[in-house]
Amino acid sequence: MARIVMKFGGTSVADLERIRRAATRVKAEVEAGNEVAVVVSAMAGVTNAMVKLVSDAARLADLREYDVVVSSGEQVTSGLMAIVLQSMGVPARSWMGWQIPIVTDDSHGSARIENIAVDDVVRRFGEGQVAVVAGFQGIDPAGRITTLGRGGSDTSAVALAAALQAERCDIYTDVDGVYTTDPRIVAKARKLDRITYEEMLEMASQGAKVLQTRSVEMAMKHHVRVQVLSSFENSPGTLVVDEDEIVEQALVSGIAYSRDEAKITLLRVPDQPGVAAKIFGPLAEAAINVDMIVQNVSAETGRTDLTFTVGKAELERAVQVLRSRQAELKFEELRSDANVVKVSVIGVGMRSHAGVAQQMFTALAERGINIQVISTSEIKVSVLIAEEYTELALRGLHTAYGLDAA
Ligand code: ASP
Ligand code: MG
Repeated sequence: MARIVMKFGGTSVADLERIRRAATRVKAEVEAGNEVAVVVSAMAGVTNAMVKLVSDAARLADLREYDVVVSSGEQVTSGLMAIVLQSMGVPARSWMGWQIPIVTDDSHGSARIENIAVDDVVRRFGEGQVAVVAGFQGIDPAGRITTLGRGGSDTSAVALAAALQAERCDIYTDVDGVYTTDPRIVAKARKLDRITYEEMLEMASQGAKVLQTRSVEMAMKHHVRVQVLSSFENSPGTLVVDEDEIVEQALVSGIAYSRDEAKITLLRVPDQPGVAAKIFGPLAEAAINVDMIVQNVSAETGRTDLTFTVGKAELERAVQVLRSRQAELKFEELRSDANVVKVSVIGVGMRSHAGVAQQMFTALAERGINIQVISTSEIKVSVLIAEEYTELALRGLHTAYGLDAA
């Protein structure tokens, strides 16, 4: 007997027929003798529709009330799932975040889970009952409903698995696992059997949208074994695990890309102490996230060029902030370019191997792709290139690192 958490995403509970199909999977785990907690998302499209209602109601809605509205989708699904399970002869009870309770901080709209009390749920496991938990929602110290940010049901599931010390957290979704890269672009992409938490974290934050980034952080911190699998097929998915569970580590495990990047270059800024602080301070104050940064070595002129990237949606604001301070920052010219993509190769194997970046640069050079900005971390090399080369770069790199399916 094991204790497991099964999470079903929006497309897996999109209508009653799919809820029944998901419930059949739950029933099978119960009949295999497992204690099961089910975490559900809102039915596909429901959260989006409610987000729109809120923003139509008021341009800057009170986030406490935003949470009241958008958390309601999960309430509906969990009740329906409990009803369907009961109708199949499986004892089940729904739980809202506040009933467990799943206690969060008070950052409405993207709250963080602080504590989950599982005593009641565990007692009912003992009575043979399945717990159906509404994902995405919690309760803050003041007793108000909170939500965990878009995609937050993944985090609900992993946090619950940690609190329950579950053997596994199965995330049922509309893809059958984590791929070496986006299979819609690279036909030879392969499904990975296993991937480490760290790699998954990079993949998730670099644009592969299978799991909410916070859920991976949570899984890594509490060593929760997460499986990503399809609710429509009966095949094993991808296990997200500790590094020591992976026997043969490839040099590069995956290639991610993000089109959500824009580049800003400030030409001929004074090359003096404090200049970078002066430039990035106002951007931080405006809550604009800066990602990649390069500063050229100064020529004799005492001036240098500074290039960095921000989110595409923030480009206009960033340009405004900088232009309004041109006199103070003393740059001569500002250029911006939204026509860029960030491509990253990711793998824990590169910690112990040299030459991974070099291989990347060669593969891109052979295809005539110009690299505009480079950044690296211990397990990742990222480059910024012109957006029209996305496909060419992904396919070329996938082949260069030996990731192509046979
Ligand atoms: N329903 C929420 C959303 O669409 C949470 C989730 O599904 O993970 O973001
Ligand atoms: Mg999701």
